[in-house]
Amino acid sequence: MSLNTKELELVSVTKRYGDTVAVDAVSHHFRPNSYTCLLGPSGCGKSSTLRMIAGHETVSDGAILLGGVDISHLPPAQRGTAMMFQSYALFPHLSVAENVAFSLKMKGVDKGERLKKAGEMLELVDLSALADRLPDQLSGGQQQRVALARALITRPQLLLLDEPLSALDPFLRIKMRAELRKLQQELKISFLHVTHGQDEALALADEIVVMNNAVIEQAGTAREVFNTPKTAFVARFMGGHNVVSLADGTYAIRADAVGLSAPGAGSIDGTVTAIEFQGTHVSVSARIAGDQEVTALLPDARFFEQPNNPGDPVGLTWETDQLHKLSA
Ligand code: ADP
Ligand code: MG
Repeated sequence: MSLNTKELELVSVTKRYGDTVAVDAVSHHFRPNSYTCLLGPSGCGKSSTLRMIAGHETVSDGAILLGGVDISHLPPAQRGTAMMFQSYALFPHLSVAENVAFSLKMKGVDKGERLKKAGEMLELVDLSALADRLPDQLSGGQQQRVALARALITRPQLLLLDEPLSALDPFLRIKMRAELRKLQQELKISFLHVTHGQDEALALADEIVVMNNAVIEQAGTAREVFNTPKTAFVARFMGGHNVVSLADGTYAIRADAVGLSAPGAGSIDGTVTAIEFQGTHVSVSARIAGDQEVTALLPDARFFEQPNNPGDPVGLTWETDQLHKLSA
């Protein structure tokens, strides 16, 4: 572990806007030197949490600790954090290098020194060749790398990113997320990345913290959260699961753990309602008793051995040890 990695801890952090409780007594110990995704639906309190950590929003109650020090009331520049915004907010009239050097200018660092540091940061994000361009002469992906360099030039312990990929097209989003991951590993500092995309969180995160309705619903490694969701909300939000109420409780079962058989020969009977070709897999949805829907995700070759059609009666099969009991 790098020596300059400091642990972030939230202690019963609350944010109220008038009568709205945007963040409700959230406590969490973030893993040091790791890539953490704060994941949840729109309005659940992710950005408010991030802005309080950055110091762009006051804390209504509770404390934020970085490396054991209470930073809750420090100005943003003194926290050891840096924020990359959803809209990159680059200064249109400043060159790439000047944008990156901006915070050093505010600190009174002399021009030679700040352009040298900006040069190092641009090298880090592979933009040295474009140092003299203006922001509107850059692609979306390049603008994002400038914004990253600009945040990193302050040498933060913790980089905060609010939906950093949402303005990019799907192809570039996947490319940039790999770059973010690589950068975090190179710099050996912690990244805290807010997203509402479960695929993004699964691809990037050492740890996923799932928020819902102003609280943390579940936190764990990407694999833990995906494979062992605690609640129906997490199972549905992470995707790839069915949530079914059986005689003795509510369960999650991964769609790729459900198979099809002849009616009467499976774990439960149903009627096919929809078939979706997804390239490598075919998703077959069926209605079962209690007006519930179960989806089986079949390898395409398996599906096409004996293709089904909407309206067909089928058996849905699973191993009972694949059923994962949910707490709510
Ligand atoms: P997320 O980033 O998960 O979409 P936010 O933290 O932006 O969620 O918002 C959480 C809740 O707080 C929402 O109900 C939102 O409308 C409210 N909220 C956010 N910012 C403000 C604000 N500046 N003033 C009043 N309400 C706000
Ligand atoms: Mg937000």
